[in-house]
Amino acid sequence: MVAIFRAGPAIACAVVLTACQSAPPSADTAPPTGMTPPSAGVTPPTGAAGMTPAAGCPASPYGARVEAPGGAKTVALTFDDGPGKSTAAIIAILERYRVPATFFNIGVNMAARPSLVRAEVKGGYATGNHTWNHPDLDDLTAARQAAELDEASAEQRSITGTVPCAFRPPYGDYNSTTLRLAQQRRMGVWLWSVDTEDWKADGSGSPYWVHRIIRLAEEEGGVLRHPIVLMHNELIGNPATVSALPVIIQFFRARGYRFVTL
Ligand SMILES: [Zn+2]
Repeated sequence: MVAIFRAGPAIACAVVLTACQSAPPSADTAPPTGMTPPSAGVTPPTGAAGMTPAAGCPASPYGARVEAPGGAKTVALTFDDGPGKSTAAIIAILERYRVPATFFNIGVNMAARPSLVRAEVKGGYATGNHTWNHPDLDDLTAARQAAELDEASAEQRSITGTVPCAFRPPYGDYNSTTLRLAQQRRMGVWLWSVDTEDWKADGSGSPYWVHRIIRLAEEEGGVLRHPIVLMHNELIGNPATVSALPVIIQFFRARGYRFVTL
């Protein structure tokens, strides 16, 4: 397995490529876990990107955004780099608390775990394009950037019949070409404003990491009116994120935030 980490301020991603491409689709035959829409009565998903039919997405403005949409106080929970080992557990928590969220999936991981992509869409969660295999886009030609975007969207379309209307560049790295390509494909570009740095736990679920993720989410998010919280559901699993998530949800809920998708 090859882990690619790029550390730095507000940059947090980890992805394992070779294992994704060769992993047996063991979860493939499992039926979706019967999720109900997380919207009932409390926090309706507003973006519904994951439910967009393959026919296309609404037009999106040029540029990258770092604030969750909606009036009053809104918060967007986002999970990058999946589907992975913790995706089902994260969905179960979101369902329990009736909270919408956005999953920025990687194409190779979708191909390895299509049942989880179907579970995200059936559950009413938004899905976003996080490229085919997580390159640094600003190192690539326009043609290769376009291929990264298109192959990931095609994979979701083949699995679910829907296409993502949201896009997040790996590592938050992009250039004007990226923005143009995303706009041409009617995908809104979304970064984040709250970095939980949960990928640094590297598969650990220890209390140290759980508390650190909670602290960063609360300290950075609690001072914003429209935070976008970056978390992960990587191939290797994010047990600390799973443990922290209920606390993070209750923190924002107690302070009057409405949960939205991107
Ligand atoms: Zn990523």
